[in-house]
Amino acid sequence: MMRRTLLPLSLTLLLSACVTNPYTNRSQLMLVDEAEETQMGVEGYAQVMAEEPINTDADLNAPLLRVGRAIAAAADKWRAEKGDEPYDWEFKLIASDETVNAWCMPGGKIAFYTGIYPILEDEAGMAIVMGHEVSHAMLRHGGERMSQNIAVGVGMSAAGILAKDSEYRDMALAALGAGVSVGLLLPYSRDHESEADFLGLQLAARAGYDPREGIRIWENMSKLGGTPPEWLSTHPNPATRIQQMQEWMPEMLTTYRRSQKMPNAPLPNALGRGPKAQKKAPKVSRQAPHEQAAGRAVATAQRR
Ligand SMILES: [Zn+2]
Repeated sequence: MMRRTLLPLSLTLLLSACVTNPYTNRSQLMLVDEAEETQMGVEGYAQVMAEEPINTDADLNAPLLRVGRAIAAAADKWRAEKGDEPYDWEFKLIASDETVNAWCMPGGKIAFYTGIYPILEDEAGMAIVMGHEVSHAMLRHGGERMSQNIAVGVGMSAAGILAKDSEYRDMALAALGAGVSVGLLLPYSRDHESEADFLGLQLAARAGYDPREGIRIWENMSKLGGTPPEWLSTHPNPATRIQQMQEWMPEMLTTYRRSQKMPNAPLPNALGRGPKAQKKAPKVSRQAPHEQAAGRAVATAQRR
């Protein structure tokens, strides 16, 4: 009912609510402003971290902070070039050996899971995945997904969206990137993934990590079974992503050669070491009920 009456109105709104992303020059539907999106990221991150077991092992956190600070510096420098404020960065390691994942919420709020360490193998591998996740935030993919949901009237409002009792809280967190922590599968679109791959490799190269590590990481990931992690969504498929990375590699290597190189050390064994590693993270199994409808409606609106 609401959806039927709201849609014609929102078409006018959609046309006046598109912004051009400075990093891609792609036009994005944006019904939340960046300050709001950042605030939601900050609150959402605090909520997730209050619920998840945090691994504070110094050996395991040292590489996360080292890589994190290098990627953060490269991202903030790039943001400054575009007139954007630096992020207020945070890096947390969640003790969950079963979860092969990582994410970054708007505002530079980053989570890695202990289960991803064996796939990353070393700090350069960690830099590739962190660059990818930070890119989703810089490219405002979370705000774009929330805007798509708001546009089709699925009940999200920008204000108070993370209220404790809100039935939309989990969907908002999922839209902002923390889906694996709330058990709500909300994959990014193919365009979002390609953009994050491209900007992520650039970030890693600018930060002083060899972008060729991206290809190794993707080959590792393509051998994984089970639920695909965020950065191994089914679209584009791993072969396509590796092929794209190979095409981009000359440009990435030019950036890398100009950068101040970071040391690359193997990551320590993270499994079975967390003080609370026995607590399992929720399985990502629930489908977002509105996601497909939201995608279709917005695609239709944008074609007009
Ligand atoms: Zn991604």
